[in-house]
Amino acid sequence: MRAATSTRPADAAVGAAVDTHCPYCALQCGMTLSPAGRTSVRVRPRDPSAGGLCQKGWTAAALLGSPARLTTPLLRNGGTLRPASWDEALGLVARRIKEIVAERGPDAVAVFGGGGLTNEKAYLLGKFARVALGTSQVDYNGRFCMSSAAAAAHRAFGLDRGLPFPLADLDGADAVLLAGANPAETMPPFLSHLRRAMDAGGLIVVDPRRTPTAERAALHLAPAPGTDLALALGILHAAVADGRVDHAYVGDRTTGFEEAWRPAAAWWPERVERVTGVAAADQRRAAAILAEAASAYVLTARGAEQHATGVDTVGAWINLALALGLPGRLGSGWGCLTGQGNGQGGREHGQKADQLPGYRRIDDPAARAHVARVWGVEPSVLPGPGRSAFELLDALGTSGGPSALLVFGSNPVVSAPHSARVADRLAALDLLVVSDIVLSETARAADAVLPITQWAEEDGTLTNLEGRVLLRRRALAPPPGVRTDLEVLHDLAVRLGQPPERFPTDPETVFTELRAASEGGPADYSGVTWDRLRAGERLHWPVPRQPGHQGTPRLFLDRFAHPDGRARFAVVDHTGPAEPPDEEFPLYAITGRVLQHYQSGAQTRRVEELRAAVPEAYVEVHPDTARRAGLRDGAAAAVVGRRGRVLATVRCVPSMRPDVVFLPFHFPGAQRANLVTNPALDPVSRMPEFKVCAVRLSAAGEREAQ
Ligand code: SF4
Repeated sequence: MRAATSTRPADAAVGAAVDTHCPYCALQCGMTLSPAGRTSVRVRPRDPSAGGLCQKGWTAAALLGSPARLTTPLLRNGGTLRPASWDEALGLVARRIKEIVAERGPDAVAVFGGGGLTNEKAYLLGKFARVALGTSQVDYNGRFCMSSAAAAAHRAFGLDRGLPFPLADLDGADAVLLAGANPAETMPPFLSHLRRAMDAGGLIVVDPRRTPTAERAALHLAPAPGTDLALALGILHAAVADGRVDHAYVGDRTTGFEEAWRPAAAWWPERVERVTGVAAADQRRAAAILAEAASAYVLTARGAEQHATGVDTVGAWINLALALGLPGRLGSGWGCLTGQGNGQGGREHGQKADQLPGYRRIDDPAARAHVARVWGVEPSVLPGPGRSAFELLDALGTSGGPSALLVFGSNPVVSAPHSARVADRLAALDLLVVSDIVLSETARAADAVLPITQWAEEDGTLTNLEGRVLLRRRALAPPPGVRTDLEVLHDLAVRLGQPPERFPTDPETVFTELRAASEGGPADYSGVTWDRLRAGERLHWPVPRQPGHQGTPRLFLDRFAHPDGRARFAVVDHTGPAEPPDEEFPLYAITGRVLQHYQSGAQTRRVEELRAAVPEAYVEVHPDTARRAGLRDGAAAAVVGRRGRVLATVRCVPSMRPDVVFLPFHFPGAQRANLVTNPALDPVSRMPEFKVCAVRLSAAGEREAQ
């Protein structure tokens, strides 16, 4: 067994083994941390039979004692950041916030959160924004990850929970269609749940690339980027034409099939083949595999979502699942694979621009009254909806936009689309405050950097991709000098004039308040207690405060969450990407993750084993595409688009479509994939079109006319 060691400060606490969860993705694999001497921590998977841990999980402890760790606040002094005391740093931040609010009003101060924050942090951050700052300008990076699936699920089912069934239900699946998901790299242990489907020849993967996940599929459908929606319509058309629709289910449990069929009727498989490049026979085969399986699932992820038509694209896949009678049935369904560690809980408790805790809408008078009562304020005090994530970042430092920004758990300089524009907007701020464990690219641009605890040094809860609430446990004392995010929010709130008890620093106390704030809402946590979690109960929300309520592992078995209990087909049609290739930029660029890195790479690029495995950006291209650009495998290339250019090393991959290049998005500086990505937003979810933009390929040294 491998031991991930970290060099901990000499005075770190060394205690008994602690059961907790991985700090990275939404699978939230269980792990046991045990002390291995005073300066190292041993990581063991708690459930090897469920796939154990991936390389990121095994090495997670290395960052605990990394020399890159921040242990003192930093304040900008001219062009450099200098160490400061907490008192000085928080005093300066509070004073500047007060000055900016006095001059320009509360919406001049914005807050940007993250999908990796615990439920308690996400909750208190939203409360801090609305109550301590009084600003409507709060959103988070989950807007970039899962908001399209959330909106599509709300539209279809009246409620959004990533997987509306337990993960283990997938173990019995004979067929699974993965649309825009690459779990073999993003969450490898997840594949253990697909063994039966793989063995049965029932795994279908929709991805423009032949990813490691696609390699395992019985059927790999590789549509041109931005044509997934057309492909979903083609498979639906095939299902209808070949008599595979479950008419009894459609009649009993849904509405809107006829309306949804009208645009789908025009997308017969041969026409879809011309648009997507996916053979008509393969579309029919996909419909047959799903329809003939005793247990079948359709699962979507970022590849389906990150489009300017992301909500409709996910809606098209849900339409297919509904036509086949899958959602809300034991042993079948539709689900979304959330990405970030708390991608699910992070979108439920109020750090989103349009939302209050419990997955309540901020424009709902009853929701405002309930939450205001819990918070001890008048409903009229709560601001209304604010800008969505990219719109917020894009407005920073403009005449009508915020002039101060507080960032928690995010690194938008690397992770936001059109990232050069975002960096410019951050530079235009009067005040940028970043709370982080390392000096991320966003922290480097800050006026104040606040060093905080990380995963193994704190208690809290997260909600995994199946809507199950998990306890994160403290295994080690944090290094001297750092504070928790909850302490930072408390300290700032008090300096801004709030009563100290309104912003607790104990995470269990915060959770108790969160339970009350969520009570009666769609994501009702009121029946979840830390004691129940400590006792090992597996609680999927909603868990109302009712004696003996065991939570809700499976949603929709009896009825969907719309008032009439029926699911809604969506009327969707294919329009294509916002920025199709043209003569000047003839290739599609798509972006994604690699096994060794997580999100902006701020953590994983600082873990030696992971950095050594994938130290820099690369661009995957078909050998013919590289040759046409005068490039060979290993050459330094520039991927040039309308908004900028990305430097990356060429990797020739014969399975790539010749019209596509792939860029991983974990790297900083000139290697940022998001220098070229398109911030075109979905009209409903406001999610940017990360997944497709138009580019050309050239040698890195060539001068480019921009
Ligand atoms: S799959 Fe996700 S949660 Fe599991 S070990 Fe890897 S990064 Fe961590």
